[in-house]
Amino acid sequence: MKTIIIGFDAFDPAFFERLHDQGKLPHLGKYVTNKGYAHLAVANPAQSEVSWTSIATGMNPGQHGLFDFVHRNPSNYALHVSLLPTKKSTFGVQFVPPHNAPTVFDHAVEMGYPATTLWWPATFPARRQSPVRTIPGLGTPDILGRLGVGTYFKLDPNPTDKTYKTNLENLSADGTQKARGILKGPLLKSKKAEDKQAPLAFEIEWIDANTANLRINNKTIPLEKDRWSPFIELNFKLRLGVSIRATTQALLTENSHGPGIYFLPLQIHPLKAVWPYANPGSYARRLWKNIGPYHTLGWPQDTTALDEGFIQDDHFLRLCDAIIETREKVLMKEIQAFKEGILAIVFDSLDRIQHMFWRDREDIIESWYLKLDALLGRIETQIKTCSHQDARILVLSDHGFSDFNTKVHLNRWLIEHDYLLPANDQERGGLQDVVWKKTRAYAVGLSSIYLNRSGRESDGIVMDSEYDSLSTEIKEALLSWEGPDKRKVVRSVWTGEEAFPGPLTPYAPDLVIGFNAGYRASGQTGLGNWEPDALEKNLDHWGADHCIDPGLVPGVLFANTNLEQLSSPSYADIPDLVIGGKFEPRESAASPPPVTSDEDRETLEERLKDLGYL
Ligand SMILES: [Zn+2]
Repeated sequence: MKTIIIGFDAFDPAFFERLHDQGKLPHLGKYVTNKGYAHLAVANPAQSEVSWTSIATGMNPGQHGLFDFVHRNPSNYALHVSLLPTKKSTFGVQFVPPHNAPTVFDHAVEMGYPATTLWWPATFPARRQSPVRTIPGLGTPDILGRLGVGTYFKLDPNPTDKTYKTNLENLSADGTQKARGILKGPLLKSKKAEDKQAPLAFEIEWIDANTANLRINNKTIPLEKDRWSPFIELNFKLRLGVSIRATTQALLTENSHGPGIYFLPLQIHPLKAVWPYANPGSYARRLWKNIGPYHTLGWPQDTTALDEGFIQDDHFLRLCDAIIETREKVLMKEIQAFKEGILAIVFDSLDRIQHMFWRDREDIIESWYLKLDALLGRIETQIKTCSHQDARILVLSDHGFSDFNTKVHLNRWLIEHDYLLPANDQERGGLQDVVWKKTRAYAVGLSSIYLNRSGRESDGIVMDSEYDSLSTEIKEALLSWEGPDKRKVVRSVWTGEEAFPGPLTPYAPDLVIGFNAGYRASGQTGLGNWEPDALEKNLDHWGADHCIDPGLVPGVLFANTNLEQLSSPSYADIPDLVIGGKFEPRESAASPPPVTSDEDRETLEERLKDLGYL
């Protein structure tokens, strides 16, 4: 077996075909000419962590257990990020793998071949018992154990009444040339309410309007306005003899929040990871030494800071460029060292670029399709140079892309239709404000409605005898819902059993919502919250998405074999193509989705809100 998998997260077939028709994508175009191109039917829901897991396992969520970005614990209605479940142990709160379904990579290893996965989603924390070599992707936390938000320090000390996901801190001016700030690190295990996070003081000294020196951890880093600093290695002292290392990059800038300095989320340092990061740990350390520093956060393209105006388009695009360049360097080295087995990598910057620019910067999107085509050209050259012409090559995406013009506040819709009763008549609320004994359904995540079932939910009222009729009633009402544009808001609704056949169906949402193009569940819905109206115009920088009916956002599949014998390839066909034979998904080996430990609501929400979708 000798297979190279190149994942282009969110590579959209319609956008590709438009550019292909204009002859702009020569490398991918060759696959079309050689009948090695098809649309790829993706898993439901069309979310990266679900879809890449389905591609790796050949299974649907009812078999692998990842149903949505957000899961809920029916015993207390608490939410958690499905990508980052935790359990309490004698060592404190620990991360556990988001799923245990055997992948095609495990299969290759069992057959005696080596397998490497680079930045594949849902592979954090490292599975130490697995011989699959792994650098984890989407779902890898920052050193605070969250999905990652940065911090903006600003000179203007006016307090702001708006709340941001990004941490906003003040710089205290020290004369006209200098300012000081304190970067907050990992949580200290002190019971005191104040000083909960390990502090790291820094100082900025301005040299002129565009340059400054940043002093932190006894190092001096020269900064140039609007340019990312090199990687900065930080050391947070927790207590005598115990410290945690992290990395970040700084950006001196000026924006609508005032002049200041932005720090990327504090990331796991591969040389001294706080949690089991890569597998084996020595692999990540070797990469760091051979390739240089790299971002370890699962979502390193800082969409949150861009969405909230703390960094600007240009800063964001340069960050995306740096990320893809580093991954290319790693891949080129790996192709050189590759002998047999599976080598898989996911490039995910296009997804973030499309979320932020699809609506009104087609030029940027196009430049990224061209960029990925050129990247593939260089990869193919390297494959040839290293005499791997005999390798199977698969280039594929986990979903396409679509407009996101209207946010759908599903819980408000459930309130308006008397399925959910709020405890008060406030315009905004969340699951903590629900009268459960009079609530029949609630929405959580980006595609999930749960019925408040007696015997499952702690305050459930829906009896088994009403389950089917209530499901049908909600389904029909959703399917008849029209937006102000007279288009259907919802294109498809499936029951959990229809969407997710498998041993884990009992853990699935009861109804799975396939939104029509242009609509998507709001971030508030993701967290179980509601807003004054069921529909709200989306004016965010995050102006496009893919968390809709998967039939509307197929992915792509390119292969250096003839794909015409597959009438309509889906994720379930990928493992067969990878091993060049019949792969038998082993659903019985998957265990129920982990129910996260009972951390306090605030901690859980902090973890959740860092995901760009929410
Ligand atoms: Zn996305």
